Amino acid sequence: MIPLVIAEEKLATELSLAIERHALSLVFQPKIEIATGRLTGVEALARWDHPALGAIGPSTFVSLAERFGSIDALTDWVIAAALRQWIDWREQGVETNLAFNISALTLRDVHFPDHLDRMCRIQGVPLDRITLEVTEGATQHAVRLLDTLTRFRIKGIGVSLDDFGTGYSSLLQLRQLPYSELKIDQCFVLDALRSRESRLIIQAMVGLAHGLGLTATAEGIEDAETLALLASLGCDHGQGFFIAHPMRGTELVPWMIDRSAERAEHQTARAA
Ligand code: C2E
Ligand code: MG
Ligand code: MG
Repeated sequence: MIPLVIAEEKLATELSLAIERHALSLVFQPKIEIATGRLTGVEALARWDHPALGAIGPSTFVSLAERFGSIDALTDWVIAAALRQWIDWREQGVETNLAFNISALTLRDVHFPDHLDRMCRIQGVPLDRITLEVTEGATQHAVRLLDTLTRFRIKGIGVSLDDFGTGYSSLLQLRQLPYSELKIDQCFVLDALRSRESRLIIQAMVGLAHGLGLTATAEGIEDAETLALLASLGCDHGQGFFIAHPMRGTELVPWMIDRSAERAEHQTARAA
């Protein structure tokens, strides 16, 4: 049997090569305004289809990239590919917000805000269309993080606290760091219909977000009842399989056209 470390090293080398050769791909998951159903943005999610092992989940390969030194290359690849896709959408008349997941390691680099700024300018994507999703686990080194996140906000870039409620010292971070969005972790949303505790926690999180001047976004909405519940709890934005699964960039505009036709039909039926 190959020792685990060697197997991991081999996979990490393959990942580096895959990044270099543009063998990764991106999918995009829509976010909507819950009250109106309007598209508010998309989140870019990386995919790696390994030639022998099949699809490897991002949680696995992002951690590999972090530990074996290819996270900057991965982040750059994701950003460049997503920005190109954004320009393509704009040419088709869609100018939506674009969110990226950013690793803790990338956030430790004080030059990253200027680097991202440059990448957006080269491609011609306005900075106020960009949101960075940061996880609570990512938020160590509070002083440096405060500096980095403030630099993003000054540039007009949004910063979202992803998977909220599952990490460490989240309340302290909410008080100290300049977030613009709080993303309620899917573990609360997935059982919100069954669990009174989850509903209470979501309600408290929405209140907290609004009290601090942030937008509340729920992830993991898998059915119409959960969407209606979140609307009744005052949650601003939502994302999940009920709204849309992550999709290829080329699928977004057709999805929007289908969805607006469906919503128009629904409204006509309700008015009749
Ligand atoms: P995340 O940012 O919290 O992304 C949401 C994850 O939940 C995605 O999984 C998405 O496909 C999944 N999801 C969306 N709607 C639903 C739903 O209704 N029900 C359920 N059960 N799941 C849903 P995915 O794509 O496997 O990504 C997992 C994590 O990997 C992401 O969590 C993010 O933290 C990380 N990730 C993905 N792409 C990147 C990347 O390019 N860079 C970095 N640093 N991290 C990434
Ligand atoms: Mg995310
Ligand atoms: Mg999340």
